[in-house]
This record gives sequence, C-alpha cells and structure tokens, in this order.
Amino acid sequence: MQSLVTVRTCANYDASAVSAVLRTVVDDLGGMHRWIKPGDRVLLKPNLLKSAAPSEAVVTHPAVVEAVAALVLDCSARPFVGDSPPLGNLPRILAKSGYDPFMKRMGIQAVPFTRKRVVEFSDGRLFRRIDLAAEAFEFDAVISLPKLKTHCQMLLTLAVKNLFGTVIGTDKASWHMRSGRDADTFATALVQIYEKIHPRLSVIDGILAMEGNGPNSGQPRQLGIVAASEDAIALDSVVCRLVGFPVDALRTCVIGEQLGVGTADPDRIEVAGDGLQGLPPVKFKPPKSMTVAWNMSRLNPIRRFMENHMVIRPAIDAAACKVCGTCESHCPPHAITQVAGAMTIDRRKCISCFCCHELCSHDAIRIQQPALGRLLGYMTR
Ligand code: SF4
Ligand code: SF4
Repeated sequence: MQSLVTVRTCANYDASAVSAVLRTVVDDLGGMHRWIKPGDRVLLKPNLLKSAAPSEAVVTHPAVVEAVAALVLDCSARPFVGDSPPLGNLPRILAKSGYDPFMKRMGIQAVPFTRKRVVEFSDGRLFRRIDLAAEAFEFDAVISLPKLKTHCQMLLTLAVKNLFGTVIGTDKASWHMRSGRDADTFATALVQIYEKIHPRLSVIDGILAMEGNGPNSGQPRQLGIVAASEDAIALDSVVCRLVGFPVDALRTCVIGEQLGVGTADPDRIEVAGDGLQGLPPVKFKPPKSMTVAWNMSRLNPIRRFMENHMVIRPAIDAAACKVCGTCESHCPPHAITQVAGAMTIDRRKCISCFCCHELCSHDAIRIQQPALGRLLGYMTR
C-alpha cells in the first residue's frame, strides 16, 4: 500500500492565506470532490479540548475549519462541526474558541456528541466492542481536523488521536483506566476507533502548534505547516518525523501499521506539496511525562522501584489550585480526593494517565520527576 501525504507551509492564520493553502493541500490529494458528493452531510471533527483562545494552540484554529467548510460547500455539500469535549459543553467552547462567527455566517450547525452506539469489531481485534458517539455515524463523510500538539500520555495528538473525541464524555476516563500505563493498549483502542470512524480526509493544523506538556498546558510554537492525507497513520508518521520524534515512539503509528490500517513506513509514503526537504530541522520539546515504565509487569519489583524513584508523576500546586474538583471527578482510578479543603493524590492508585493535567483549567497540576529519574535523564542525554 502506497500512501500520499501533503505538507504545505502557511505562515499565519490570515483567512485568505489559510483558505488558499487549504485549497492547494486538498488539490494535492486530488480535490475535495474525490470524497464529497453534492448533497452530502459532512461532519468536521476539530480538536475542541476546552474553551481556549486560538492563540493558546489548544484547539484547531477556526480559520482552518472555516477553510475546509468552504471547500465542502463548494461541492454543494453541507458541513457540520461536532465533538465531545472532555470538559465543558460544545456550544460554549465553540463560542469562546472563535468558531461562532464563521459558523453563523456559513449556516453550520454544531453537533454535540451525546448518544452512544455500540460498535463491534471482528475477531482479529483486541477490543471486540467500543461505545462511540452515534452522531459520528450519521453523516455521509467525516473529515478529521486535528491540532498538532504534544501529548503527555501518547507523545503527540494528531489525526488518529483526534478521533478519541468520538468517545463520549466520561467514557474517555474509563479508557485511560482500562489501558493503564500500557501505551500500546491505548494506542490499539485509538487505531480501532480510527478504523471505524474512517474519516475520508485528515488535515492537521500545525501553523501554531504546541510543544512541551501538551495537550493542555504546553507552549505554543510557531511551525507554519498544514499537512493532510487520506491515510491518518501515514500523515501522523510524517508529522512525527517532521517535529523531530522517532516514529516508533508514536505507538498509534506502530499499531496502525501492524494492523494494516495504514502505513508508517517512509518507503511507502509519498510526501507531496512543499514536502519535507525545504523545511528547517525542527526538534519539539517532548512532554515531561513520557513514562519510562510502560510495558513492564505491575508485580515486577524493578518496576516498583522505577515507579517510586524514576517515573514522572502529577503533583498538585496548592497555590494555583481552586479546589474545583474537576480532576477528582475525572481521575480514572479515583486517585485524587479532597482532604481538609485541599486536593491530594494517592500515588499507589495513580496510573500516570495525566487526565488531571489535561483537564485542569488552572494549570495547577505540575509534572514532577523524582531525583533519580532526573539524574538518569541527564546522564543519558
Ligand atoms: S488541580 Fe485543577 S482541576 Fe484539580 S481541583 Fe485544583 S484547580 Fe481543579
Ligand atoms: S492522579 Fe492524574 S495522572 Fe494519576 S491517575 Fe488520576 S488523573 Fe491520572
């Protein structure tokens, strides 16, 4: 299988520049009419993690979604914008994140994901059933519009991870719990979700990306690219290399290739558009939390030692914490409780999923590494 990925440069979010670049990106892949027919109802799925100004680089920029919606309208089809944000309600997030003006102007409806549908998988898959948003299956086509961000648990959140938004609300936390610290288990669930949602096209907004402790509180970083493909595994692998990480570290790419859902093999990916050659070398700051203890048995004493002395953990910054309870109610193993008016984390229960870090709106969850881990990290640099 040969996959085509296109990468184009785009300096900023000027509406006419983004519109022109998005049209070129889609044309690189054969044009929107390849996937969208007149009369189709098309679901656009951006990353809408929380209410955040576009300048924070948390949500997919509205200019990118607007440009893709315009291309859908050009096909005489009807775009919608849908998601199930882990925090807050969709209309409020759309308003605060700058989506309302273009959605009103273009007559685009919001589709909050609220109803569950049991999705079955064949014998060959690790998960035999996953509850996903029924709404995601009620359109003629889905277009995934992720934001390029680092991710505390999965290294990066790109096109495959973006579709975790089709898992409704609190079900997200139970997936983190089921997967624990095993990145490959969670990556397998993500790939299976991608397989079923089957977006016709994925377009990554990497104009203003996020590095460091993403996806919620990393640092915005100007990267100036838009990348797209029909094959989200190939797309994610190209972008992963572009920001300086080895593709093996992005487990959704490895599992996606193993399951035959897409290709992460550079020899089987053609990169079109401006390509990778003209871009300066980029080295994104990884999230601190890429734990060293994944894939080791829970009963293994070496693992216990590493957990106690090396593994990066969340810690609550009492000065910043507003005791709002959000982290407590979303912590998959119930490791966070309020004691005497302050939040505390039970380290024995914590699975280092970093849901709390992702969801805290007050930047009150710090990522801490024990001294031995810091020392070994320094020595192996
Ligand atoms: S750490 Fe953040 S999410 Fe948790 S209670 Fe404090 S402010 Fe709320
Ligand atoms: S305390 Fe935070 S990192 Fe630990 S299990 Fe709970 S949500 Fe996950």
